[in-house]
Amino acid sequence: MPGPFCGRRVRRQWFAESVPDLNDAADTPLRLASPVADLPGVGPTRAKTLARMGVVSLTDLLRHYPLRYEKEAAEGTIDELPTDGKTVGAARGEVAACRWVGDAYGRKGRFEATLRDGASRDTLRLTWFNTPWLKDKLHPGMMLRVNGKAKEFNGYPQMVSPKFEVIEVDADGAEPDASAARLRPVYPGSEKLKSAAIEGMLDVALPALLPRVQDPVPEDRRKALELPLLADALRMIHRPDDADEPKAARRRLAFNELLLLQLAITKRRSDVERGSVARALTHHGEIDARIRKRFPFELTEAQRLAVDEIAGDLVEARPMNRLLQGDVGAGKTVVALYALLTAVANGAQGVLMAPTELLAEQHFLSIGRMLEGTGVRMVLRTGRAKKKKESAAIAAGEVDLVVGTHAVLSLEFADLAVAVIDEQHRFGVMQRAALRGAEPGPDGRVPTPHTLVMTATPIPRSLSLTLLGDLDTTTLTGLPPGRLPIDSRVVMPLQTDEVYGYLRKRLERGEQCYVVVPAIEDKPSGAQNQQEVGLPKLKLKSVEAHAADLETRFFKGLRVGRVHGKLKAADRQAVMDDFRAGRLDVLVATTVIEVGVDVPNATLMVIEHAERFGLAQLHQLRGRVGRGDHGRRSLCVFVADPTTEDAAKRMDAIAGTRDGFKIAELDLQIRGMGNILGTQQSGLPPLRLAAIPDDLDLLKMARREAARVIKADPELAAPEHQLLRQVLFAQYGESLGLVDVG
Ligand code: ADP
Ligand code: MG
Repeated sequence: MPGPFCGRRVRRQWFAESVPDLNDAADTPLRLASPVADLPGVGPTRAKTLARMGVVSLTDLLRHYPLRYEKEAAEGTIDELPTDGKTVGAARGEVAACRWVGDAYGRKGRFEATLRDGASRDTLRLTWFNTPWLKDKLHPGMMLRVNGKAKEFNGYPQMVSPKFEVIEVDADGAEPDASAARLRPVYPGSEKLKSAAIEGMLDVALPALLPRVQDPVPEDRRKALELPLLADALRMIHRPDDADEPKAARRRLAFNELLLLQLAITKRRSDVERGSVARALTHHGEIDARIRKRFPFELTEAQRLAVDEIAGDLVEARPMNRLLQGDVGAGKTVVALYALLTAVANGAQGVLMAPTELLAEQHFLSIGRMLEGTGVRMVLRTGRAKKKKESAAIAAGEVDLVVGTHAVLSLEFADLAVAVIDEQHRFGVMQRAALRGAEPGPDGRVPTPHTLVMTATPIPRSLSLTLLGDLDTTTLTGLPPGRLPIDSRVVMPLQTDEVYGYLRKRLERGEQCYVVVPAIEDKPSGAQNQQEVGLPKLKLKSVEAHAADLETRFFKGLRVGRVHGKLKAADRQAVMDDFRAGRLDVLVATTVIEVGVDVPNATLMVIEHAERFGLAQLHQLRGRVGRGDHGRRSLCVFVADPTTEDAAKRMDAIAGTRDGFKIAELDLQIRGMGNILGTQQSGLPPLRLAAIPDDLDLLKMARREAARVIKADPELAAPEHQLLRQVLFAQYGESLGLVDVG
């Protein structure tokens, strides 16, 4: 068995990338935290290039993993070398002679060496061009391993510009064995900093650093989980001895990433639970009946289950921390309202936070309708108006329900018992924390409202395990009764005349239609770039221009409204009211209608430039139709000119299924996890090796392990958890708001 890396005595100096002083580096005291510039051969320029690749410290360098490996030819004797000039071969020998042929000062010329096999005395001629510095590198008597394509020349095998490495012979005269084919790592690099250069740096860094790498996973657990030592895994991924080692290493390193992530999430949840207290609400049949009387319909089975689950949370002093997921139109709003009204029935306050003003306004109106004649005091709070009096009333407990945008985060509540966050697409862990109180109560625990987060972008299980590990989940399956499937069609821009002609007929029969376009006003956006690359000038349809076009060309005599984010709130509300009341036939809109807008009579939708929208977004938009139990089938037309493969995949996916969970999985496949999470928004460090959903098993293993650790030692105070604690706080302390009290 090959020992850990430091036992190897091979040092490489890849010819193609000269790293001048690497060989003199052995005595530099390198530490894991040292800047890369401490490595010999890394000057300010290199350090800058490395920093751009995210490599600042030597630890970062250790985490700069190979993309793949190239198989190097197995070493043979010189007379076994293929000499067809095409096949790569490798051999070793002693430098018998060498010389520089060329001008003494400049760089023009060639360096020649003769390599001799110790046993057979066979020789191999080596030539490198314009490499005067080799004069100082190669000397007779050195052992070299060369790697390249050999050719017969004057009866002798010759290699031009082979790669080579100097072999150091052990003190006892034994040479390291290199007879097997070697896997050579290929590192992500750049034009300026090639893989071989990074390999060279690691050649110096690995022997110095690996002995310093400590394993944060306690020995007994590591063995129980059958994981190799961290230092061994790092050696195996950078310098594998065989093809199995990278796999074993990857598994260990990916597990580490997932374990830290899961520990961070689990610890945070445990901290919050132990450090916070919610008002335990009363809930009984009478309250339940009073609330249900407000709903204009019977709850579906799925809604009843969800409501029961939530009611079970609300009566506890442990703050509810629940995710309610259900497809578009599944009927999440009443479930949320149920929770809010439970707070009100207890004389406490509730708040509903929506991602857009339009949605907040819609919620405010529809909830207002359901609560007519109840005396529940409700206010709408969006960013625009500063209303001091209202804020004071909320702080004094004279308001029962607040509906609004993130503007509600800055309010002070007298007695906030339930907070609902609607349509949270981004899984920002921070935002949820903002509704917690600031000051701990007399028992040291922070008063925290019961929190319900709703999303209509179903989160694939693999993802929710990753990032929503701190939430309980309720899934609202199915749709309310009477829903018919939505017909989905993808058409080319050329066919839109036909589409609008058809829609006109349906509009004349009293149906209503949304038309979604990407821009508000006409402007030749990006035209310059487009022209530079010789493409025809691309013009995006805008609300204003497209509405005018529809009015004059296809929908003459029909009533066309416009809505977008730049309208004043009052105007926007007036338009939405007109559309809801049927005073408008067509609503031309930007994606402001993406979330939450609920006009059951609208059965038609056209999405222009559909290729520009993400899959989840298209699904949301489409969810605006197909609501209600009026027995009419809805139609959604995606007008698209997909020019990329991804766009074509999205169009196929959206036309092919209406199942939000399937769409979410497809989205995950098409875009990959990093993009969905928007690592920046989520505030979490990226996973380098772990890939979701591929590593689901590892993820589950990490999750179990994290739960076990935190359960036994919530503060990570035990001596065997010290390393884990250190790494955890270094990596996740900031992004997850972990507080280091130790
Ligand atoms: P989403 O889950 O997308 O937020 P909504 O809460 O907006 O869905 O509900 C979609 C539509 O279904 C609304 O018009 C709502 O009034 C209606 N709805 C919800 N629950 C029921 C039910 N149990 N029976 C009939 N209609 C329902
Ligand atoms: Mg909704």
